[in-house]
Amino acid sequence: MTAGADVDIAIAGGGLTALTAAAVLARAGPEWRIALLADDSHAGADARSDAFAEVRTMALSASSREVFAALGLWSAIAARSAAITDIQVSERGGWGLARLGPAPGDAPFGQVIENAELVRLLAAAVAACPNVGRASGSNATPVPRRDHLEIQTGAGLLRARLLLVADGTDSPLRAGFGIGVTARDYGNAALIATLTLAEPHRGIAYERFTPDGPMALLPLPDRDGQSRASLVWVLPPERAAALAVAPEPERRAELQTAFGQRAGVILGMGTPQLIPLRRCLAHEQVRSRLALVGNAAHSLHPVAGQGFNLTLRDLAALAQHLRAGARGGRDPGDLGVLAGYARARERDQWRTLQFSERLPALFASRAPLLALGRNLGLAALGLCPPLRHALADFGAGLAVPAARVVGDDARR
Ligand SMILES: Cc1cc2nc3c(=O)[nH]c(=O)nc-3n(C[C@H](O)[C@H](O)[C@H](O)COP(=O)(O)OP(=O)(O)OC[C@H]3O[C@@H](n4cnc5c(N)ncnc54)[C@H](O)[C@@H]3O)c2cc1C
Repeated sequence: MTAGADVDIAIAGGGLTALTAAAVLARAGPEWRIALLADDSHAGADARSDAFAEVRTMALSASSREVFAALGLWSAIAARSAAITDIQVSERGGWGLARLGPAPGDAPFGQVIENAELVRLLAAAVAACPNVGRASGSNATPVPRRDHLEIQTGAGLLRARLLLVADGTDSPLRAGFGIGVTARDYGNAALIATLTLAEPHRGIAYERFTPDGPMALLPLPDRDGQSRASLVWVLPPERAAALAVAPEPERRAELQTAFGQRAGVILGMGTPQLIPLRRCLAHEQVRSRLALVGNAAHSLHPVAGQGFNLTLRDLAALAQHLRAGARGGRDPGDLGVLAGYARARERDQWRTLQFSERLPALFASRAPLLALGRNLGLAALGLCPPLRHALADFGAGLAVPAARVVGDDARR
């Protein structure tokens, strides 16, 4: 350990980003001492996240597969997830339909896993890292000292070279550091639920655009011989709130009407969760001894399923920059190192934000010409392989710089 600090890296957060950051950095720097800080005062919030985790799922792209493969977790994830082998994009009331099936021999577009499974796998991986310890954190704003930050934890003061802030969209620590955000309320909410289907899903992911908002239906692994799918249904907030408490047969019937018959008969719709949708972008992602990651740095529209995939590419790049800095004798909190990381991530973050916002915005418009245009667009997409592949590759996280996790080989 470096003199003057108890740990090299402290990570504040109890979600997927914090766990993944701990696993990625523990591998990138076996000599780094890492503390994972999840605050007891967030027990309520964590319990709520756990409840969400029951129905929340994650579509992991090809770039995420590389990150998890480097951590030795991919085979376990693949065994507990469903492959997306076909993507169908359609519009309610429109005649266009785009199919993005991969060419024979291509890898799937992505894998869909329940958040609870992913958390379990990551928590076990982190527990097996000898250089990661856990402590309870707090919302008290850390105090900058000459060569470290002083962080209040349940076990007393902790001195860290670098603090990763991974405490979510409303990040109390980000606020404590006085870092502002550009927030935009999308004016709608997402209804999330697990569905049971009468027919096998055959690995098809559906993106469907309705006058109320977009909906995504993603394949899940079968359970008890039953075909299942994960629903993200974006709706005006009042309608989403009413549907969330409606009796199951009623909300299921509404869903079937809105979604149509493309996935066959929907047999069951589990208890839904309601999530208000907003974009939230931090004005600064790095400062001396500080980096914001995950939702604390950028919270995106969920319908394109890009937020966590983007975060994984961020974390892989952060590990590379910290490693390169260490080779040059710089400690993990060095502003030059962190600024280099932030610069390197600008383009991918911007493109991913644009992609996540433009897709639902295009289909939200009721203007007749735009409506005609997008029907033609969907049909053209179906007919024009290069366009289809460009969209599919972007969705799979392929049209961005490779996400490589540094490890032993990278340090040679
Ligand atoms: C409906 C929906 C569907 C999505 N689908 C996809 C998808 O298919 N693919 C994809 O890539 N992305 C998807 N996303 C985005 C993805 O969910 C997020 O990128 C990811 O959950 C961000 O995790 P996080 O850990 O940064 O934040 P959070 O999940 O918000 O976790 C933050 C954690 O920090 C804790 N915390 C708060 N304050 C403190 C503190 N002071 N100290 C310690 N801990 C603290 C909180 O209790 C919480 O546990 C989706 C998002 C939504 C809303």
